[in-house]
Amino acid sequence: MTRREILQGLLTAGIWHVFRGIGFAAQPSSMKEVENMQKNWKSLLADGIKVPLPSESLKLSTDQWRKRLDAAQFNILREEGTERPGSSPLNNEKRPGVFACAGCDLPLFTSAMKYESGTGWPSFFTTIPGVFGTSTDFKLVLPRTEYHCARCGGHHGHIFNDGPQPTGKRWCNNGIALKFIPKNSKA
Ligand SMILES: [Zn+2]
Repeated sequence: MTRREILQGLLTAGIWHVFRGIGFAAQPSSMKEVENMQKNWKSLLADGIKVPLPSESLKLSTDQWRKRLDAAQFNILREEGTERPGSSPLNNEKRPGVFACAGCDLPLFTSAMKYESGTGWPSFFTTIPGVFGTSTDFKLVLPRTEYHCARCGGHHGHIFNDGPQPTGKRWCNNGIALKFIPKNSKA
């Protein structure tokens, strides 16, 4: 390695550090903080908004789902489709608020749980507790952990183990399967 290469390496590492500092500034440093974030998720819910509970199961027929959802939402939520990376406006959603299921309005994540993974899909390092079920799928040969809404069964995405500490998890979610409720929106 030449001096020049070493210098370049240091420079790149330095810039990466600055980026990390900006992008991850608000992230929790301990599991205790993550637990508090989960427990207090309603602090990011807009005042007066009524939301369902995971236990208030929503079961509809395929025809009813087709009527309730648009074609893209139906493909992802009911047929386990995947949206094109970088296509969701929610990738850049940074306002305080709550991300709910586009199929049934169940709150799934808060803005505090979101981070920039660079994958092109909205990514979260944890979830509101009790809102997802999981299964293993083999669509890409290697097993992946699929997750779906506990209330309506709608498919949302996959969980990976390359997320930021302290959880180390990346909940990779289709933006089309989510609706964002800004904290300052009116009921
Ligand atoms: Zn749902």
